[in-house]
Amino acid sequence: MESATSTSDGAGMETGAAIADAVRNGELTREGIVRLLEIADPEELQKLFIAADAIRQRFVGSEVFLRGIVEFSNFCRRDCLYCGLRLSNRDLPRYRMEEGEILAAAHRIKAAGISTIVLQSGEDPCQSTVRICRLIRRIKDETSLVVTLSVGERPLGDYLAFREAGANRYLLKQETSSPELYARFRPGCRHEERQQCLRHLKELGYEIGTGNIVGLPGQNTADLAADLLFIREIDADMVGIGPFIAHPQTPLAPCPNGSPAMTLKVLAVARLLTRSTNIPATTALATIAPQGWRDALQSGANVIMPNFTPVVYRGLYEIYPGKSSASTNVPDFPEMLEQELRDSGRIIGTGSGFRKRQEISG
Ligand code: SF4
Repeated sequence: MESATSTSDGAGMETGAAIADAVRNGELTREGIVRLLEIADPEELQKLFIAADAIRQRFVGSEVFLRGIVEFSNFCRRDCLYCGLRLSNRDLPRYRMEEGEILAAAHRIKAAGISTIVLQSGEDPCQSTVRICRLIRRIKDETSLVVTLSVGERPLGDYLAFREAGANRYLLKQETSSPELYARFRPGCRHEERQQCLRHLKELGYEIGTGNIVGLPGQNTADLAADLLFIREIDADMVGIGPFIAHPQTPLAPCPNGSPAMTLKVLAVARLLTRSTNIPATTALATIAPQGWRDALQSGANVIMPNFTPVVYRGLYEIYPGKSSASTNVPDFPEMLEQELRDSGRIIGTGSGFRKRQEISG
């Protein structure tokens, strides 16, 4: 993907101008984004990361917010070509956590001083609207945690019911905004429907999260630029950006993984464009680059999502290989992580961690 370089003086000046424009007003054309994503010169790359880090400091400050994730079912009716949970992966033992187990995880999150629970699953047909609403209400009643859902595409009525039950945020990654790549990698799914779901969620008052996969086979920097422009257009509150990682039990097994460097570039440009969004240092990046979560925090990220899925299930939520062991690349919460963050001038966020839209420092 990294086909062009910007080593000549002229190109370097244009890159510098594109970074300056993005820093000044968050404005970048598609061509400007492509130029930044194709930076190959290490010094220019450093300038990009420093600029993104400065915008992160201006708009979201030093706090790193923690979200405790619970992967409560690995059943999925979909067959995405890149995902280990796909329906056709008959080798994967499937599980559904009981409501009591999920509530116990919620209490552990609360006890750890984390204010948000992220309830994530595949598109599991057995997770009825009633069941999920009851779960949300019980979590709210017993822990007062902010509830983020990540349970895929559902009818508008479900989104409304979840919101009325108390859900605050919803994650639905677009994965790719290229209709061609979307159709190729997500058979049976419609690109427009996913975007429509995000619009519905926004209208219902959720904080919405979306994002993309970096390094899908056949994807180029223009596709990634389109992803970034979509993220801004939809006015996402949270942006998840992770590399493609080939899963051995999928049709994409022989394909090369996405590049950590390109993932960091996309993340940095996302910060420049979206200013105040909450951007996690993803486990996917930590999976293929053990230092990746630290690099992400220095390139615009401000969120870490510690995994509270019981160990007995954790290895089975294998969207991509190595995911469960990668979470151990991030220091154990809370003491080690707190120390790590303090050493790099950051602190663990307090409060509910909702998006603050205004600039917090000049
Ligand atoms: S990416 Fe999501 S919808 Fe697609 S198979 Fe995996 S869990 Fe299911």
